[in-house]
Amino acid sequence: MKVCKFGGSSVADAAQILKVLEIVRSDAQRRVVVVSAPGKRAKGDDKVTDLLIACAREALAGRDAAAAAERVAERYESIRADLGLDEGLVAALREELAARLAADRSHPAAFEDAVKALGEEFSARFCAAAFAARGLPAVYVDPKDAGMLLSEEFGSAQLLPESYDRIRAKLAPIPDVVVFPGFYGYTASGRLATFSRGGSDITGAILAAALRAEVYENFTDVDAVYPVDPRLCPEAAKGEGIREMTFAEMRELSYAGFAVFHDEAVMPAIRAKIPINIRNTNRPDEPGTMVLPRRRSVPGRVNGIASSGGFGALYVEKWLMNREVGFVAKLFAILAREKVSIECMPAGVDSVTVVFRDEQFPDAVRERVFAEIEEELHPDHMSYTRGIAFLVAVGEGMRTTVGTCLHVVTALSRAGVNLQMINQGSSELSIMFGIREVDLKPAVQALYREFFGS
Ligand code: ASP
Repeated sequence: MKVCKFGGSSVADAAQILKVLEIVRSDAQRRVVVVSAPGKRAKGDDKVTDLLIACAREALAGRDAAAAAERVAERYESIRADLGLDEGLVAALREELAARLAADRSHPAAFEDAVKALGEEFSARFCAAAFAARGLPAVYVDPKDAGMLLSEEFGSAQLLPESYDRIRAKLAPIPDVVVFPGFYGYTASGRLATFSRGGSDITGAILAAALRAEVYENFTDVDAVYPVDPRLCPEAAKGEGIREMTFAEMRELSYAGFAVFHDEAVMPAIRAKIPINIRNTNRPDEPGTMVLPRRRSVPGRVNGIASSGGFGALYVEKWLMNREVGFVAKLFAILAREKVSIECMPAGVDSVTVVFRDEQFPDAVRERVFAEIEEELHPDHMSYTRGIAFLVAVGEGMRTTVGTCLHVVTALSRAGVNLQMINQGSSELSIMFGIREVDLKPAVQALYREFFGS
């Protein structure tokens, strides 16, 4: 049995929903379909979720939300008309939206969640109706009836662990195709709560884990995960995507803002060891990228290269630092007090560099940290450098291949990119290279050509 999740662009209009229907129909194993709210139909278009949030905020500000609500209804009306569905569906949406906008606002975040979840609810209701009208027996299942229990953290709720057994008991066996809205569930007290934005991926992963699916298919609008960020290297978008990667590789790659989906979103599937297949709704014959607990084969050295700017490096130097027990611990404690989360820490005998996301280190924080370091650690020198980018070469094959680093360094030096830091983790699954942000593009392009170019 397969659980498939279709993102916003896959259900953005009637034509897209019909593609979804054909995909589901073409494989009898596709029994559970999770959908997002309709997304953008083209550049500049609105996502239904954003329209709903605008409605909720109008109401919370005490203004009339009728015009904003009408934009939502119009979006669904055009889908309904193009699919030839019953007019009652849009009437029900209008009524429900008006009721939720008129509900109690004493808890603004809970109020907003109830409004914004309507995007997914009606997306799923429409899809189930469209499937059934075209001869594919399908039912809409509400997260409440399926036992999807969430914490009271409105806007970023977490699944309560007992949900797995409840979902399994309520949903299995599955006679008709189940169409399930992504993004939300209910708290123990019966209030609607949503996951964080993009949370339909989480719903899909939870259902795949609860129902022990053979695979979790995540349909989006790209053919595969590319080995480097195609925004930095357009050539990569025309080349081959990654066929297979392991969960561990995915974690390393998504670390630097790489992934098609947020890796945390698919944690339920990963914990349950359910393979994830990232596929394209618009090109369903493409095999996409498989994310597996283990790879069958590990050809080549590098499977993908993540890249991200926006880092800063705090450098602290002290003569005979290596003999001073607890030096680094004290440095970490100072940073922890300021809630600075550390990415890596290349060190020398008498110096240490701590790298983190620069956004965590505004001037006021930097001044406090410098003062505390001065007082507690008495360094000989310290400095902070912004504008650092990281390249992370990832591949299970690196453990058994000699010379990956050499290849990276050679390619970068040919491209005239100066390396500021190198850090290889003990798992030997990835090597991080620190460079200047301004060198990011040429560096990524050089590495793409080195490892993946024809
Ligand atoms: N519709 C929600 C959002 O835009 C959830 C999702 O699409 O996954 O964030």
